[in-house]
Amino acid sequence: MLRFRDIVGHQGQIELLRRAVQRDRLHHAYLFVGPEGTGKRTVATALAAAVQCPDGAGDACGECASCRCIDDRNHPDVHWLEQRKGKRDIAIEQVRGLQRDLALHRFSGKKKIAIVDPLTLMNLHAQNALLKTLEEPPGESLLILVADSTGGVLPTVLSRCLRLRFSPLTVEQAAAVVARRKEVPEDRALLLAALGYGSLGRALAGNDEGVLEERRECFRRLAGLAVDDMRGITALAEEMGADREKTLRFLEWVKGWLRDIMVLQVTGSPSAIYNRDLLEPLGRAAAERRVSQSTEALAEIDNATRAIHRNFNRRMVLEGFIPRLLA
Ligand SMILES: [Zn+2]
Repeated sequence: MLRFRDIVGHQGQIELLRRAVQRDRLHHAYLFVGPEGTGKRTVATALAAAVQCPDGAGDACGECASCRCIDDRNHPDVHWLEQRKGKRDIAIEQVRGLQRDLALHRFSGKKKIAIVDPLTLMNLHAQNALLKTLEEPPGESLLILVADSTGGVLPTVLSRCLRLRFSPLTVEQAAAVVARRKEVPEDRALLLAALGYGSLGRALAGNDEGVLEERRECFRRLAGLAVDDMRGITALAEEMGADREKTLRFLEWVKGWLRDIMVLQVTGSPSAIYNRDLLEPLGRAAAERRVSQSTEALAEIDNATRAIHRNFNRRMVLEGFIPRLLA
């Protein structure tokens, strides 16, 4: 998806960028902020393609040599600054490499473009180094910074960028993309989109019958567990704690489940439900539980998720968490 016109959602942001490209009125630096999986990187790539495309009048053609190079990530005038394999953050050496690159003469493009993704992985040294480029941008350069949030970003860096905010896609927008890219029927696309909770990346990755069935089985087992059934709780904790990814996925599932229960309790309407294939058990849970039980359990999920990220023992975290879910 290299062309603005193929991107679903974010119409306001895209229109603003498209017009700026067309009139050659782009700022030197943009900051795209919004939750993970909403398409910031896609829009950043499309912006780079639109600027460099020789045939483009505000949008990339998607077919010329310049567009193909950007699609393949080897355009000589588009520099990607990302986390290197095995490294914790984007290092100051990478920023210096970028600065050397921006100082070079353009090869074939109309501008020298740098895409920093994500900005939040830049440590303060690297951000300070980047600040020099933001303060005195080399002529005909364009910096696109991508971040999930502005936490940890130097205010001096923020103040030098034009900020564009990206909201999560609606379920219908995400479903349209899922249906097109995965070639699945509409009801399946809607379910996957809903289970992505606004993240297109998650929705696209969720198209796996094994995982979907595992999720349904997990809720069946949860529904059958009593709070004092220690053996059943330990068995489920052991299974969902098998690996880190599985544990985090389980916690995401439960979060969506609790959120759905609360939506049913508050609105009484199933139209905004994420777990569309589990309406019946959700309805039962919504009738049986108090709203405060769900809000308390939601807070517990955040604690459990933090503990998993800190490498606490997964089975023990889940053994502590699951009974609170049932209580
Ligand atoms: Zn082109």
